[in-house]
Amino acid sequence: MRYIEPHGHMVSRVTDDYIDMVTAGCACVCEPAFWAGYDRSSVNGFYDYFCQLTDYEPKRAARFGLPHFCWLCINPKESEDVKLAEEVVALIPKFLDRPNVLGIGEIGLNKNSRNEMKVLEMHVDLAARQNQMILVHTPHLEDKLKGTRLIFDVIKADQRIQPERVIIDHVEEHTIKRVLDSGFWAGMTLYPESKCSPARAIDILENYGSERLWLNSACDWGVSIPLNVPYTALEMKRRGWSAEDIDKVVYQNPLKFLSQCKKFKLPKG
Ligand SMILES: [Zn+2]
Repeated sequence: MRYIEPHGHMVSRVTDDYIDMVTAGCACVCEPAFWAGYDRSSVNGFYDYFCQLTDYEPKRAARFGLPHFCWLCINPKESEDVKLAEEVVALIPKFLDRPNVLGIGEIGLNKNSRNEMKVLEMHVDLAARQNQMILVHTPHLEDKLKGTRLIFDVIKADQRIQPERVIIDHVEEHTIKRVLDSGFWAGMTLYPESKCSPARAIDILENYGSERLWLNSACDWGVSIPLNVPYTALEMKRRGWSAEDIDKVVYQNPLKFLSQCKKFKLPKG
Protein backbone atom coordinates (compact mmCIF):
# COMPACT_ATOMS: atom_id res chain seq x y z
CA MET A 1 0.00 0.00 0.00
CA ARG A 2 1.05 3.61 -0.58
CA TYR A 3 -0.58 6.60 1.05
CA ILE A 4 -0.03 10.27 1.86
CA GLU A 5 -0.57 11.68 5.36
CA PRO A 6 -1.76 15.16 4.35
CA HIS A 7 -2.40 16.46 7.89
CA GLY A 8 -0.15 15.22 10.69
CA HIS A 9 1.23 17.24 13.60
CA MET A 10 4.54 15.44 13.66
CA VAL A 11 6.32 17.74 16.11
CA SER A 12 4.10 16.04 18.73
CA ARG A 13 5.10 12.52 17.70
CA VAL A 14 8.01 10.24 18.51
CA THR A 15 10.39 8.66 16.02
CA ASP A 16 8.60 5.29 16.37
CA ASP A 17 5.62 6.93 14.65
CA TYR A 18 7.81 7.89 11.70
CA ILE A 19 9.07 4.30 11.46
CA ASP A 20 5.52 2.90 11.63
CA MET A 21 4.23 5.34 8.99
CA VAL A 22 7.03 4.60 6.54
CA THR A 23 6.63 0.86 7.13
CA ALA A 24 2.90 1.18 6.37
CA GLY A 25 3.63 2.86 3.01
CA CYS A 26 3.54 6.57 3.81
CA ALA A 27 4.96 8.53 0.86
CA CYS A 28 5.09 11.93 2.58
CA VAL A 29 3.63 13.86 5.49
CA CYS A 30 2.25 17.42 5.51
CA GLU A 31 2.09 19.35 8.76
CA PRO A 32 -0.21 22.36 9.22
CA ALA A 33 0.72 24.89 11.91
CA PHE A 34 -1.19 24.11 15.08
CA TRP A 35 -1.88 25.16 18.67
CA ALA A 36 0.88 23.92 20.95
CA GLY A 37 -1.50 22.92 23.77
CA TYR A 38 -0.77 26.31 25.39
CA ASP A 39 -0.86 29.88 24.07
CA ARG A 40 2.53 31.10 22.89
CA SER A 41 3.50 34.24 24.79
CA SER A 42 4.86 36.31 21.89
CA VAL A 43 5.60 36.40 18.18
CA ASN A 44 9.01 34.92 18.99
CA GLY A 45 7.31 31.66 19.95
CA PHE A 46 5.90 31.51 16.43
CA TYR A 47 9.27 32.34 14.90
CA ASP A 48 10.76 29.34 16.69
CA TYR A 49 7.83 27.11 15.73
CA PHE A 50 8.07 28.09 12.05
CA CYS A 51 11.81 27.31 12.16
CA GLN A 52 10.94 23.91 13.63
CA LEU A 53 8.35 23.24 10.87
CA THR A 54 10.61 24.37 8.02
CA ASP A 55 14.01 23.23 9.21
CA TYR A 56 14.28 20.76 12.08
CA GLU A 57 11.18 18.59 11.46
CA PRO A 58 11.88 17.96 7.72
CA LYS A 59 15.38 16.87 8.72
CA ARG A 60 14.01 14.55 11.41
CA ALA A 61 11.53 13.03 8.91
CA ALA A 62 14.28 12.65 6.30
CA ARG A 63 16.18 10.37 8.67
CA PHE A 64 13.36 7.89 8.07
CA GLY A 65 13.19 8.57 4.33
CA LEU A 66 9.94 10.52 4.63
CA PRO A 67 9.47 13.84 2.75
CA HIS A 68 7.96 16.47 5.09
CA PHE A 69 5.95 19.55 4.03
CA CYS A 70 4.17 22.18 6.12
CA TRP A 71 1.60 24.98 6.20
CA LEU A 72 2.01 28.19 8.22
CA CYS A 73 -0.39 30.40 10.21
CA ILE A 74 -1.48 31.37 13.70
CA ASN A 75 -4.06 28.75 14.69
CA PRO A 76 -7.66 29.88 15.39
CA LYS A 77 -7.23 28.84 19.03
CA GLU A 78 -4.70 31.66 19.45
CA SER A 79 -6.61 34.20 17.35
CA GLU A 80 -8.27 36.08 20.23
CA ASP A 81 -5.21 38.31 20.54
CA VAL A 82 -5.56 40.26 17.28
CA LYS A 83 -2.39 42.30 17.83
CA LEU A 84 -0.30 39.16 18.26
CA ALA A 85 -2.01 37.66 15.19
CA GLU A 86 -1.06 40.74 13.15
CA GLU A 87 2.58 40.28 14.18
CA VAL A 88 2.50 36.58 13.23
CA VAL A 89 0.83 37.26 9.86
CA ALA A 90 3.55 39.85 9.19
CA LEU A 91 6.21 37.24 10.03
CA ILE A 92 4.89 34.47 7.75
CA PRO A 93 6.10 35.88 4.37
CA LYS A 94 9.72 35.51 5.59
CA PHE A 95 9.13 31.74 5.62
CA LEU A 96 6.97 31.28 2.51
CA ASP A 97 9.92 30.71 0.19
CA ARG A 98 11.29 27.83 2.24
CA PRO A 99 11.27 24.66 0.13
CA ASN A 100 8.78 22.61 2.22
CA VAL A 101 6.10 25.32 2.73
CA LEU A 102 2.86 24.55 0.85
CA GLY A 103 0.64 27.45 1.89
CA ILE A 104 -1.40 29.05 4.67
CA GLY A 105 -3.01 26.74 7.25
CA GLU A 106 -4.61 25.44 9.24
CA ILE A 107 -6.62 28.64 9.50
CA GLY A 108 -10.32 28.88 10.26
CA LEU A 109 -12.48 29.23 13.33
CA ASN A 110 -12.61 27.60 16.74
CA LYS A 111 -15.32 29.33 18.77
CA ASN A 112 -16.61 31.43 15.85
CA SER A 113 -15.77 34.68 17.65
CA ARG A 114 -15.46 38.14 16.12
CA ASN A 115 -11.69 38.25 16.66
CA GLU A 116 -11.23 34.82 15.09
CA MET A 117 -13.14 36.13 12.05
CA LYS A 118 -10.82 39.14 11.82
CA VAL A 119 -7.74 36.93 11.94
CA LEU A 120 -9.23 34.54 9.37
CA GLU A 121 -9.73 37.48 7.00
CA MET A 122 -6.11 38.53 7.54
CA HIS A 123 -4.89 35.05 6.60
CA VAL A 124 -7.12 34.82 3.51
CA ASP A 125 -5.81 38.22 2.40
CA LEU A 126 -2.23 37.04 2.98
CA ALA A 127 -2.84 33.89 0.92
CA ALA A 128 -4.35 35.94 -1.90
CA ARG A 129 -1.51 38.48 -1.92
CA GLN A 130 1.14 35.75 -1.89
CA ASN A 131 -0.73 33.38 -4.25
CA GLN A 132 -0.72 30.62 -1.63
CA MET A 133 -2.99 27.61 -1.22
CA ILE A 134 -5.17 27.42 1.90
CA LEU A 135 -5.90 24.65 4.42
CA VAL A 136 -8.91 25.35 6.66
CA HIS A 137 -9.73 23.91 10.09
CA THR A 138 -13.46 23.80 10.87
CA PRO A 139 -14.75 24.01 14.47
CA HIS A 140 -15.80 21.08 16.60
CA LEU A 141 -19.24 19.56 17.12
CA GLU A 142 -22.09 22.04 17.59
CA ASP A 143 -20.01 24.97 16.28
CA LYS A 144 -19.06 23.16 13.06
CA LEU A 145 -21.97 23.98 10.74
CA LYS A 146 -22.18 27.64 11.74
CA GLY A 147 -18.39 27.96 11.60
CA THR A 148 -18.22 26.34 8.17
CA ARG A 149 -20.82 28.82 6.88
CA LEU A 150 -18.91 31.78 8.32
CA ILE A 151 -15.64 30.52 6.82
CA PHE A 152 -17.32 30.20 3.41
CA ASP A 153 -18.54 33.79 3.66
CA VAL A 154 -14.98 35.03 4.25
CA ILE A 155 -13.33 32.93 1.53
CA LYS A 156 -15.99 33.53 -1.10
CA ALA A 157 -15.97 37.27 -0.42
CA ASP A 158 -12.37 37.34 -1.64
CA GLN A 159 -12.53 37.06 -5.42
CA ARG A 160 -8.81 36.38 -5.65
CA ILE A 161 -9.15 32.92 -4.04
CA GLN A 162 -9.73 29.92 -6.34
CA PRO A 163 -11.85 27.32 -4.49
CA GLU A 164 -9.96 24.37 -6.00
CA ARG A 165 -6.83 25.60 -4.18
CA VAL A 166 -8.60 25.49 -0.80
CA ILE A 167 -9.19 22.41 1.35
CA ILE A 168 -11.77 22.50 4.13
CA ASP A 169 -10.70 19.95 6.71
CA HIS A 170 -12.54 18.01 9.43
CA VAL A 171 -15.76 17.77 7.37
CA GLU A 172 -18.54 15.53 8.65
CA GLU A 173 -21.89 14.31 7.35
CA HIS A 174 -23.59 17.69 7.77
CA THR A 175 -20.89 19.84 6.16
CA ILE A 176 -19.37 17.79 3.34
CA LYS A 177 -22.00 18.48 0.68
CA ARG A 178 -21.79 22.22 1.14
CA VAL A 179 -17.99 22.07 0.88
CA LEU A 180 -17.92 19.99 -2.32
CA ASP A 181 -20.80 21.88 -3.95
CA SER A 182 -18.83 25.11 -3.46
CA GLY A 183 -15.88 23.74 -5.44
CA PHE A 184 -13.56 23.31 -2.46
CA TRP A 185 -11.69 20.15 -1.54
CA ALA A 186 -12.78 18.34 1.63
CA GLY A 187 -10.67 16.60 4.28
CA MET A 188 -11.91 13.96 6.70
CA THR A 189 -10.04 13.58 9.96
CA LEU A 190 -9.90 10.09 11.45
CA TYR A 191 -9.88 10.42 15.23
CA PRO A 192 -10.54 7.59 17.67
CA GLU A 193 -12.87 9.70 19.86
CA SER A 194 -14.20 12.71 17.96
CA LYS A 195 -14.42 13.95 14.38
CA CYS A 196 -14.75 10.93 12.01
CA SER A 197 -14.18 7.29 12.87
CA PRO A 198 -12.85 5.16 9.99
CA ALA A 199 -16.27 3.49 9.61
CA ARG A 200 -18.09 6.85 9.43
CA ALA A 201 -15.55 8.21 6.95
CA ILE A 202 -16.10 5.22 4.64
CA ASP A 203 -19.89 5.64 4.94
CA ILE A 204 -19.44 9.27 3.89
CA LEU A 205 -17.23 8.26 0.93
CA GLU A 206 -19.81 5.71 -0.16
CA ASN A 207 -22.54 8.35 0.01
CA TYR A 208 -20.75 11.30 -1.56
CA GLY A 209 -18.14 9.70 -3.84
CA SER A 210 -14.40 10.22 -3.65
CA GLU A 211 -13.81 13.27 -5.84
CA ARG A 212 -11.93 16.14 -4.19
CA LEU A 213 -11.66 14.30 -0.85
CA TRP A 214 -8.76 13.22 1.31
CA LEU A 215 -8.32 11.34 4.59
CA ASN A 216 -5.93 12.30 7.38
CA SER A 217 -5.13 11.22 10.92
CA ALA A 218 -4.22 14.74 12.18
CA CYS A 219 -2.02 12.88 14.69
CA ASP A 220 -1.29 15.58 17.26
CA TRP A 221 -0.52 15.72 20.99
CA GLY A 222 -4.09 14.64 21.87
CA VAL A 223 -5.67 11.20 21.58
CA SER A 224 -5.00 10.27 17.96
CA ILE A 225 -3.68 7.40 15.85
CA PRO A 226 -0.90 8.19 13.35
CA LEU A 227 -1.73 5.10 11.26
CA ASN A 228 -5.44 5.84 10.91
CA VAL A 229 -5.20 6.46 7.15
CA PRO A 230 -3.77 2.98 6.37
CA TYR A 231 -6.08 1.43 9.00
CA THR A 232 -9.02 3.00 7.16
CA ALA A 233 -7.65 1.72 3.84
CA LEU A 234 -7.68 -1.79 5.32
CA GLU A 235 -11.27 -1.31 6.44
CA MET A 236 -12.17 -0.11 2.92
CA LYS A 237 -10.62 -3.28 1.53
CA ARG A 238 -12.66 -5.36 3.97
CA ARG A 239 -15.79 -3.57 2.76
CA GLY A 240 -15.07 -4.53 -0.85
CA TRP A 241 -13.33 -1.45 -2.23
CA SER A 242 -10.90 -2.20 -5.07
CA ALA A 243 -7.18 -1.52 -4.61
CA GLU A 244 -7.44 1.17 -7.30
CA ASP A 245 -10.34 2.99 -5.60
CA ILE A 246 -8.53 2.91 -2.24
CA ASP A 247 -5.35 4.24 -3.87
CA LYS A 248 -7.33 7.15 -5.34
CA VAL A 249 -8.56 8.24 -1.90
CA VAL A 250 -5.41 7.72 0.16
CA TYR A 251 -2.75 8.60 -2.43
CA GLN A 252 -3.87 10.05 -5.75
CA ASN A 253 -6.34 12.58 -4.36
CA PRO A 254 -3.93 14.25 -1.92
CA LEU A 255 -1.24 14.09 -4.61
CA LYS A 256 -3.54 15.92 -7.03
CA PHE A 257 -4.50 18.66 -4.57
CA LEU A 258 -1.01 19.20 -3.17
CA SER A 259 0.64 19.18 -6.62
CA GLN A 260 -1.06 22.52 -7.28
CA CYS A 261 1.84 23.87 -5.23
CA LYS A 262 4.94 23.76 -7.42
CA LYS A 263 7.13 22.99 -4.42
CA PHE A 264 5.26 19.75 -3.74
CA LYS A 265 7.33 16.99 -5.34
CA LEU A 266 7.79 13.38 -4.30
CA PRO A 267 11.01 11.54 -4.99
CA LYS A 268 10.73 9.16 -7.94
CA GLY A 269 10.65 5.41 -7.41
ZN1 LIG B 1 -4.68 19.89 12.66
